[in-house]
Amino acid sequence: MSALEIVSQSPAETVAIGEALADHLRDGDVVLLHGDLGAGKTTLAKGIASALGIEEVVSSPSFSLVNEYDPGIAAAVTRLYHLDLYRLRQEDDLATIGFDDFAVPADAVTLVEWPERAATALPDRFLLIEIETVGSESRRLRFVPVPDDDVWTYRIESLSTRLASGAD
Ligand code: ADP
Ligand code: MG
Repeated sequence: MSALEIVSQSPAETVAIGEALADHLRDGDVVLLHGDLGAGKTTLAKGIASALGIEEVVSSPSFSLVNEYDPGIAAAVTRLYHLDLYRLRQEDDLATIGFDDFAVPADAVTLVEWPERAATALPDRFLLIEIETVGSESRRLRFVPVPDDDVWTYRIESLSTRLASGAD
């Protein structure tokens, strides 16, 4: 069982966790960010983007459900897709945004906020991050690889070691 649980004590710490996670991501990965409004999904996404050298302010898209970013030239990731399905009206609309391409990103990493809106269209493989508000500034982050196999085990262990050492 390779689920990892971390408590973040501030927005800056959540950004730092996102930055550390980014170093463990590669093209083809899908990361689902699950949690209530204000849990810190977008904050975590900002950390991931920042470590990939993405300068633009990553925010939840207001009008589009998908934002697309080009990582810096030195990044190991070719492209970053950031989906926020909060405003998705019905699962049928997933076809309109071409969700299947984001769900299995050949040359990109996909981050999805409100993945439960796409429950029937999720890929076979993803990293689920459940974020729970436990205090005004504290959040519990649970990293759950699906399926729980070798693909994520090593990376989650490495992330865990890195965060425990405070090296970020
Ligand atoms: P979501 O995308 O899940 O709706 P956001 O990342 O947009 O959430 O917002 C999270 C809010 O919670 C921000 O206002 C942020 O400042 C606040 N916050 C407080 N503590 C934390 C923490 N430890 N991690 C992330 N955000 C936090
Ligand atoms: Mg958000």
